Amino acid sequence: MILPTRGLTREEVLSRMKELASRDARWRDGKTWSLVYFAGDDVLDLLKEAYTMFISENGLSPVAFPSLRHFEAEVLEMTAGILRGGGEAVGTMTSGGTESILMAVKTARDRARAERPEVAQPEMVLPITAHPAFEKASHYFGVKAVHIPIREDLRADVEAARKAVTENTILMVGSAPGYPHGVVDPIEQMAALAAENGILFHTDACLGGFLLPWVRRLGYPVPAFDFSVPGVTSISADLHKYGFTAKGASTVVYRNDSIRRHQFFAYTEWPGGLYGSPSMTGARPGGAIAAAWAVMKYLGEEGYLRIARKIMDTTTRLQDGIRSIPELRILGRPAMSVFAFTSDRINVYALAEAMEARGWKLDRQQLPPSLHMMVTPAHERIVEPFLADLKACVGEVAAAGESPVSGQAAIYGMVASLKDRGPAREIILDFLGELLRRET
Ligand SMILES: *Cc1c(COP(=O)(O)O)cnc(C)c1O
Repeated sequence: MILPTRGLTREEVLSRMKELASRDARWRDGKTWSLVYFAGDDVLDLLKEAYTMFISENGLSPVAFPSLRHFEAEVLEMTAGILRGGGEAVGTMTSGGTESILMAVKTARDRARAERPEVAQPEMVLPITAHPAFEKASHYFGVKAVHIPIREDLRADVEAARKAVTENTILMVGSAPGYPHGVVDPIEQMAALAAENGILFHTDACLGGFLLPWVRRLGYPVPAFDFSVPGVTSISADLHKYGFTAKGASTVVYRNDSIRRHQFFAYTEWPGGLYGSPSMTGARPGGAIAAAWAVMKYLGEEGYLRIARKIMDTTTRLQDGIRSIPELRILGRPAMSVFAFTSDRINVYALAEAMEARGWKLDRQQLPPSLHMMVTPAHERIVEPFLADLKACVGEVAAAGESPVSGQAAIYGMVASLKDRGPAREIILDFLGELLRRET
């Protein structure tokens, strides 16, 4: 039996957990380029303390926990300020970027149901680089996803967006920046187009919402993406990414309360009482809400600016190093610390395998094949060794020529060669089931 008959001791439990953790991604060493956003031990210690202080409290009832209500209200007010929402912008905290995006799409759908009942099959227009959470929203909520291509510079094609709008369009989407290449879509033009057509516009700033505003203040060119752009009606911004708060915290902010109202859910006929809920989840972890408040207050503008400077300096050093390797090419013009590089001469999937053999985990991307980097303060110290290994690995792969590739490189190569991508979908579904089985 996997549930022990008699419980283990605290020491036994913790030692088993430490043992299992030893095989996890080594984010603290700056060896990984996704998933974990580490701003230093002072921030992490505060997160742990704030999180555990409210570990039992439940954000489902702000009436029972006025502390959580206070934290959430202030987090949202601070976020609306960072996103230049004026006095009218309001939002909710969610469990992550995906939930924020699901809510923005559902809000647009329900607003259309209320105000444009003639729309039978609602559609949203989005670039192919938009996060898969929008596909998930499409799948869950029955809003048809109408994809538009990107241009040579990897930004959404505004003319294609114009042509994609129909009488059923309820929402248009742009990213600031998009995850795959870190470039910001032409939000001003797209939002103007949306406004002209009387439809909502969502900026997905899950990645950039808590970094681009500081990067702009540091003097880097940052395209407009927030509520200062007329026509932008909602924005998702992830606290648990470049907000550096604990996992399970994001925000979705609307231009005004009359739009947000369509997000909320109410049910009056339950014997358990009158039920109202702002977002997808029922119970909401008090720890994630409290920790977000704590870190935002602790860092303040100065703290976020200091971290942003460190991140951008590190990004510049990494990009300069990559540009100095003739076989490699950075895609597009990344606006901040997220970018991808490819090669016209060597197989980048084979390069990723070679780097992995030296302990570096780079995420593989497709269409075209590229390797992804997401820079955090944890990378400040590893720029030189990383670039040295990258240069060496490019040499190794170039020297090996067209040799057979193994590991993930083989899977991506195989998928890339498929004309019908249905089988790739089945492979992913099988893989998900596989992942939920215990490894022995
Ligand atoms: C991470 C991300 C999301 C999804 O956020 P999760 O917190 O992983 O659910 C959406 N859009 C962009 C641009 C992202 O980077």
